Amino acid sequence: MYICVDFDGTVVDHRFPYIGEPAPLAISWLKRWHELGAKLILFTMRSDGAKHGSVLSEAVEYLEQRGVTLYAINQNPDQTEWSVSPKAYAHIYVDDSAFGCPLIQPSGFVRQCVDWAQVGPAVESLIVAERGQ
Ligand SMILES: [Mg+2]
Repeated sequence: MYICVDFDGTVVDHRFPYIGEPAPLAISWLKRWHELGAKLILFTMRSDGAKHGSVLSEAVEYLEQRGVTLYAINQNPDQTEWSVSPKAYAHIYVDDSAFGCPLIQPSGFVRQCVDWAQVGPAVESLIVAERGQ
């Protein structure tokens, strides 16, 4: 199962171009999903380039240093045989901007972030169900 995961407002507080405080439980759930066999794709507007420097690389490093295994970054390499669409193919997209995504407002955060206490187990049950098929 492919899961696209946004960064700012999803894994960390939205402090772009900086990296905000960690969203509660985000890292542990990402590691758990990977252990269950999910392929995690970092799906973010961050990019390395002239305006803000290496903000994408910093996000990738942030995740890797915390033990999160990424399958790909801003693309799904497995879709190139059947699509030239720039949208990364995934079964699930976890994004604080997604309509209906459960959000919380931790103390000190500038914006609401993903409520991993709800999203984590809900997605886990989908991964497990998909594996059973
Ligand atoms: Mg976001």
